[in-house]
Amino acid sequence: MPQLTLESTIYTMDQLSVMPKPQVAMAGRSNVGKSSLINCLAGRRKLAKISSSPGKTRSLNFYGVSPGEFYLVDLPGYGYARCSKKEREKWRLLIAAYMEANSYLKAVVALFDCRLTPQMLDIELARYVTAMGVGLIPVLTKADKCKQRDRAKIQKQWQELLDLAKPPMCVSSKTGMNRDRLWTLLGAAAGV
Ligand code: GDP
Repeated sequence: MPQLTLESTIYTMDQLSVMPKPQVAMAGRSNVGKSSLINCLAGRRKLAKISSSPGKTRSLNFYGVSPGEFYLVDLPGYGYARCSKKEREKWRLLIAAYMEANSYLKAVVALFDCRLTPQMLDIELARYVTAMGVGLIPVLTKADKCKQRDRAKIQKQWQELLDLAKPPMCVSSKTGMNRDRLWTLLGAAAGV
């Protein structure tokens, strides 16, 4: 399994610099299970901080993937209800500054909680990524919490909503479901 090493953490736009390796970013609403998934991919418990208070992580984290030589980029979670308008705008601008005109960005993994109904911010994220001409890898998290027969229905719902060629993949950080498949997709997206 590839290794993940935290190489850079960015809090503001001024700290952004060109990271000259292919990049695959991970985005999703706060509490979607992004940190848990990064830890699961890394096979480590505490690489990415699992938020006990959601909405607190506001940084962009670059994890070097080796072997493979690309970056997995952890984007700050969005949509935290108790976060101020000003803070939300700051998040949006940071993401836009990171994504726009970044020729190293190959794909964005968009994480959706399989137990929640799709919300406008999720759809906007998917559209934003696609409109930018960047590959979209939709993934449904916490699949262990959904019954097998409900999973197919939820996958279909997201597929139709986002107008995808294939249903999004289900993952679980708790059971490790589809971890290897996700690694394969990440590597393929990064072109390594
Ligand atoms: P983040 O805010 O997107 O980084 O989300 P976290 O990784 O911090 O997870 C938010 C909550 O969901 C935590 O309480 C996790 O333990 C829980 N969680 C994350 N992934 C899974 C999963 O695959 N299965 C289950 N059952 N719970 C999960």
